[in-house]
Amino acid sequence: MTDPILPGATLGVLGSGQLGRMFAIAARRMGYRVHTLSPASGTPTGQVADREVVAAYDDLDAVADFARRVDAVTFEFENVPVAAADCAAQHCPVRPRGEVLHIAQNRLREKRALAEAGFPTAAFERVTGSEELVQALTRIGTPAVLKTAGFGYDGKGQAVIREPCEAASAWAEVGGGEAVLEAFVDFEREVSVVAARGVDGAFVHYGVTENRHRNHVLDVSLPGTVLAGGGNGRAVTIARDILEALDVVGVLCVEFFVTRDGDLLVNELAPRPHNSGHFSVDASVTCQFGQQVRALCALPFGSTALLQPAAMVNLLGDLWSQGEPDWAAALADDRVKLHLYGKDEARPGRKMGHITAFGDDADDAARRAEAARERLVG
Ligand code: AMP
Repeated sequence: MTDPILPGATLGVLGSGQLGRMFAIAARRMGYRVHTLSPASGTPTGQVADREVVAAYDDLDAVADFARRVDAVTFEFENVPVAAADCAAQHCPVRPRGEVLHIAQNRLREKRALAEAGFPTAAFERVTGSEELVQALTRIGTPAVLKTAGFGYDGKGQAVIREPCEAASAWAEVGGGEAVLEAFVDFEREVSVVAARGVDGAFVHYGVTENRHRNHVLDVSLPGTVLAGGGNGRAVTIARDILEALDVVGVLCVEFFVTRDGDLLVNELAPRPHNSGHFSVDASVTCQFGQQVRALCALPFGSTALLQPAAMVNLLGDLWSQGEPDWAAALADDRVKLHLYGKDEARPGRKMGHITAFGDDADDAARRAEAARERLVG
């Protein structure tokens, strides 16, 4: 049996964005101390951590020093170099293990790992040049989506190819290098399952959440979605099998496309709490960040039960284009909760915060959340 890491201990998080911030808040609520390491200062995580270390992720001396001063390390985004996770693991437990990072930080590795283990994905091929892309298009067909293999998220480094003649411009758009060509999925909707697995193999999940995107970025999440034909059970089984196959200890989100035939295709994995699970902070008995703390510390999981129908909308930097948003107007509905991540600069497309709303059902909650967001800009 793995000994639990008990409250009073110090937890380290590599990365310093909003996910680290919400992890730190959950950890501190349970009496842990939190250290964060990233190349920036005054960060969303650093603002609420006990200690903010400013260092590059590939500064392994700094990472080793960081890991020596904490009792366990996790991360809040998957693009931390594996060498940093491996280095930290020489000094304290790192959960999930670095290999999970290694797989999830490269689309090609991730898709191959999924396909080799028998999980359903859209057809895909590796592409390393525009000639190869033309060849791959003859097999995958059009429309298709070209994505950079590394460091892509929220639709960045992606180009939709509608006709084969668009191959060269798509290749230029994603910037060359190694890429994945994927069949375009004419999905009915996109959903996700946020789940957690413990050191002892315990498994919990937040059910199926519907995710509506705008410009490739998550816009609205509605937990408690019911899929036809036993889709919920299939989605949760796939999520459980993925966490087991990758031997994940921690939180992992599986994003799916639901096809018009009701089939589920895995689009992406995020080996950490996910934007589509933010509703759980207000709406669930135990939030996804609380489960991340518990998994990291080898403690039993809490209930994932939804307390009330809820929905979440993201607040992007675009909302600041006319000046400071009208927070009081948004909060005029007393079933709305506001989360801001403490970011100074509101750039278009940047995730600045989110709103969770409660309602009579998820659709009512989504309407309230969207209405609150609209009131922000008058
Ligand atoms: P990703 O960064 O891979 O999660 O992609 C961001 C968004 O682009 C997804 O949530 C989808 O809305 C869209 N997208 C990505 N891949 C595909 C695909 N193969 N077919 C259709 N839409 C896609």
